[in-house]
Amino acid sequence: MIALALSLALLGAPAQLVVSTPRGETRIAVSLDREGRPMVAALPLASALGGALRQDGAWATIVISRQDFSFLVGAPLYRLNDQLEPVTVPALERGDSLFLPYQFVSEILPRFLGELYRFDRTGGRLLQLAPPPAASAGPKRLPNGLLPGHTVTVDAGHGGVDPGNPGRYFPAGVTEKDVTLQMALLVRDELLHQGVGVRMTRTTDTLINLRDRGPYCAEDCDLFVSLHVNSLARRPGYTSVRGFDTYFLGEAKTEEAGRVARMENDAIRFETPTASGPSTGGLDYILRDLQANEYLRESARAAELVQASLEPVHSGDNRGVKQAGYAVLTTARRPAILVEMGFSTNPEDGRLLSSRNSQRQLARAIAEAIVNYLHEFERKSGVGPDTAGRGR
Ligand SMILES: [Zn+2]
Repeated sequence: MIALALSLALLGAPAQLVVSTPRGETRIAVSLDREGRPMVAALPLASALGGALRQDGAWATIVISRQDFSFLVGAPLYRLNDQLEPVTVPALERGDSLFLPYQFVSEILPRFLGELYRFDRTGGRLLQLAPPPAASAGPKRLPNGLLPGHTVTVDAGHGGVDPGNPGRYFPAGVTEKDVTLQMALLVRDELLHQGVGVRMTRTTDTLINLRDRGPYCAEDCDLFVSLHVNSLARRPGYTSVRGFDTYFLGEAKTEEAGRVARMENDAIRFETPTASGPSTGGLDYILRDLQANEYLRESARAAELVQASLEPVHSGDNRGVKQAGYAVLTTARRPAILVEMGFSTNPEDGRLLSSRNSQRQLARAIAEAIVNYLHEFERKSGVGPDTAGRGR
């Protein structure tokens, strides 16, 4: 006990951390890693600050005041706004618990969210300041903290004479185009409910040419989201493959990503050729066009958020974020993603995607990811509610 107190004292960390917020005070014991360096248990810290904790492979993310801090467990690194930063002591897992370096509360939080957090080193006290009153000057925000005026384009894949995939495990008569439309309408309702404007490429069973879908998301639109259902050709074991993945534009890195994009691009054969308008066909065109697309980073982030948000509500595998040459994504001059929400050739996914309750859950998760994306977007453009000195 004396040795513990001594070594903590030497490192300048008291034996406990006091977290003081407008809602009250919480005491969290300071632990030591193998080398006697002070650590703070992440879960009690997150809950004391009204934040959240999530784990994604080797990355552990603590979300404080809507800001993600992702620690690479076992390595002296963390990621903030897509930027890797060094940290003196690696985050560690012990049993089921995650521990963050003391430096997170003593330096990192007060540095990056300085308008909200102060740290008193001698008292071992992290102080959360009350957020400024909403009535202060600045733009009025929606209840979810977003600025009003965002618009997102939701694209229900296929339609009309293009049924998409035949929906092997959907109810009789239901094909991909029906499920993408049902889901798109649910996502729209969720987004409208959250105060986000929505533009739909279709709201009925009609075919919109691939090249005409992207332009719905013009300058005033924040994100283009295309919804699809995956499927596999008959081969041994094909009905056992299930799960969801989200794509953004790029050269397919795997045979599988190339296969899915070819399947979705095949919708072009249903289209009536027009004299004008750019060609959507040809991977060459798509890849040349990539150079012009400045939104790949944003698209990748949106895809990541969709995957993370679907994971807890989708019983299939998280198949990750992928790149491929989707024709429909090339014509969006804004950040654009395509979600393959599951496999109609798998019985469980088929049920998940066609029953109303799970459809609602999936739609809510996709909408939530979009709202999270818009929050990050506001923060990066310096108008977020958590941005120091601006936007309020
Ligand atoms: Zn499709």
